[in-house]
Amino acid sequence: MAQRIVIENAAIATVDAADTEHATGHVVLHGNRIESLGAGPAPEGLADVARRIDATGHLVTPGLVNTHHHYYQWITRGLATDHNLFDWLVALYPTWARIDEPMVRAAAEGSLAMMARGGVTTAMDHHYVFPRGTGDLSAAIIGAARDLGVRFTLARGSMDRGESDGGLPPDFAVESLDGALTATEETVRRHHDPSFDAMTQVAVAPCSPFSVSTELMRQGAELARRLGVRLHTHGSETVEEEKFCHELFGMGPTDYFESTGWLGEDVWMAHCVHMNDSDIAAFARTGTGVAHCPSSNARLAAGIARVPDLLAAGVPVGLGVDGTASNESGELHTELRNALLINRLGAHREAALNARQALRLGTYGGAQVLGRAREIGSLEPGKLADLVLWRMDTLAHASIADPVTALVFGAAAPVTASFVNGRQIVENGRLLTADEDEIARSTRAEARRLAEIAAG
Ligand SMILES: [Zn+2]
Repeated sequence: MAQRIVIENAAIATVDAADTEHATGHVVLHGNRIESLGAGPAPEGLADVARRIDATGHLVTPGLVNTHHHYYQWITRGLATDHNLFDWLVALYPTWARIDEPMVRAAAEGSLAMMARGGVTTAMDHHYVFPRGTGDLSAAIIGAARDLGVRFTLARGSMDRGESDGGLPPDFAVESLDGALTATEETVRRHHDPSFDAMTQVAVAPCSPFSVSTELMRQGAELARRLGVRLHTHGSETVEEEKFCHELFGMGPTDYFESTGWLGEDVWMAHCVHMNDSDIAAFARTGTGVAHCPSSNARLAAGIARVPDLLAAGVPVGLGVDGTASNESGELHTELRNALLINRLGAHREAALNARQALRLGTYGGAQVLGRAREIGSLEPGKLADLVLWRMDTLAHASIADPVTALVFGAAAPVTASFVNGRQIVENGRLLTADEDEIARSTRAEARRLAEIAAG
């Protein structure tokens, strides 16, 4: 018999279609679903109440949804800190090519733990480095997410354009076309759960136009559609990538994606910084989603994505941490703030984004691009019980006028509790599902081991 958890006396930002908020309200969880919510105290006479939480001084929001990341990079943070994308990739690929299963497992735990303690309830990993003979990396990553209790999409990546084919990765770090497609299909068949309350899903995710053959892009899209799963890749990240696409394919990235079957409502693309008006119109027309990664774009000097224009055109936009070799913080709640501030440096200035829009990017927008807007991303009866209690009555936030403004404009807010699928995974900023100190130790050890192997 499913039990109830009653949360009362909190400010609530539902991020539903009407942006409904309650200055003081309640949320009732029943099993893994949100049963009811609204202003004032919870209804009286509820049966099977396992727990009542007095959330005075808190803001309750939907759990944050991360839409772009590369977990393995957790153990190569702080390297090549003053490079642009292509130089950074060339500097790091020889190290990345040496990863093995224990390294990937530790890095996944580190990445997931960091996000979860900051209010992420749904995460993804775009993993595309599969050196030969290094174990079952996909199962290691999925196992880490399952153990930490985070809802998860594995974007099973691939690369088949090594150095000898004009690509950037060393040849020994890439797969063959057939090898990549076969392994991706097997991962989907083994791990993808299409159900409403799925904790694990899989997407087909060749790395990027400059590390993947046209045939892998084309056949990858066909595979995803045959299996009924989503498609993910990097797109339009830098001016260098745009130039590369023109030289190699005779067209820009968006036209190349269209020509290979990579625009559609089942596709989401990381970055999308260098988009002209017709690129944005193509995304809007096809329903293609965007994972906006403001900190990574700033770190690699990629530019400012046109988020206000994407939103005005009706393009679904979520937020991404991106790999932590290009965003050492690994946190998503600070990306709400960075998305807002960085977009205000673009063409629309102070009208670019407001606090509510930034919160929407990190919640409902993320659910949209992961194809899960029916199930998560807003607080509504019947949706899955993925939500966060942000503490707003401490030194950092207590004197800020409005809780949503405090969450987005203020310092990174402490998480008092975070629930995924009705299960609490964070309490007072600490993970309940894993030992953070142990993860810190193992990630440090694996980072050292990788550095030693790479130094050869
Ligand atoms: Zn990325």
